[in-house]
Amino acid sequence: RAKDQGGGTFNIFSNGTDEYEKKQLMLENDLRNALETEQLIVHYQPVVDLSTGRLKSFEALVRWEHPELGLVPPGEFIPVAERSGLINDIGTRVLESSCRQVRRWHSANEQIGLAVNVSIRQFRNPHFPNLVKDVLEITQFPAHLLILEITESMMQDDSESVRIIEEIRTLGVKLAIDDFGTGYSSLSKLGFLPIDYLKIDRSFITEMLIHAPIQSIIQTIIDMGRNLDMELIAEGIEEEGQSLLLAECGCQFGQGYLFSKPLSAEEIEMTYSLSTLVKVK
Ligand code: C2E
Ligand code: MG
Ligand code: MG
Ligand code: MG
Repeated sequence: RAKDQGGGTFNIFSNGTDEYEKKQLMLENDLRNALETEQLIVHYQPVVDLSTGRLKSFEALVRWEHPELGLVPPGEFIPVAERSGLINDIGTRVLESSCRQVRRWHSANEQIGLAVNVSIRQFRNPHFPNLVKDVLEITQFPAHLLILEITESMMQDDSESVRIIEEIRTLGVKLAIDDFGTGYSSLSKLGFLPIDYLKIDRSFITEMLIHAPIQSIIQTIIDMGRNLDMELIAEGIEEEGQSLLLAECGCQFGQGYLFSKPLSAEEIEMTYSLSTLVKVK
């Protein structure tokens, strides 16, 4: 069984095209069923202020609790969801349930932000801004505390993309560029689109203490972001040294295993004092 290949993950890419397509179809059916039977759950990774260590927000990260395969990471099924179009329903589900959850935590502290990943197919859906508006209304989630994470490749300057971005901004919702520095967008677009956050991709952080030039690149990204009035978030911080250096370079926020892995809502409540925004365990 594929599951036994280790790590609690499974490999959908077996050899042979027929076999591959069969698995894709099975996975797609399983995924459709997962949506109906509530097997999709959201984990939350803390984003902290690097200079104070206090909690700023959570990133919502979807997981699939598969009855036989165990916890399946998003990298294994988001591509299938994208191809089949299921990503629209999945995305709405993740948005709504995470807004509902963090809204509950607002009874302890009203400042807690929430970041939700948006895939290209959701983003290009002309109804997307309306969907976001509906979710904000249903959950009573404050728009200014919601951050939608898009990637560089989604920052097109065609009129439809610009309209969608503007409608989202009109709602008061913030936008972040995820995995910044790994895509092939032209930097000039950053000057035209109203972006609030740049998330420096984990690959830079991983290398920063090993290859000195990477540190210069990070410094350049931070300076550019700050000059454009954007806030900086470093992804994938695993070592104290990375955190200290990033703070010194002017990066205000960060997330990574050093602070916490993504946790279930219950685990978050056991690990953090949400009223004071500090880790207690
Ligand atoms: P992402 O948005 O860049 O999320 C960060 C990923 O890095 C997460 O993986 C997180 O668990 C992992 N990570 C965080 N800190 C560290 C660290 O210190 N070290 C290492 N090695 N990894 C770290 P995850 O949860 O497997 O998600 C992978 C990707 O799947 C996400 O990358 C995002 O692009 C996508 N994704 C997750 N949830 C959703 C969702 O609800 N909708 C959509 N469209 N995509 C999602
Ligand atoms: Mg993200
Ligand atoms: Mg990222
Ligand atoms: Mg990333």
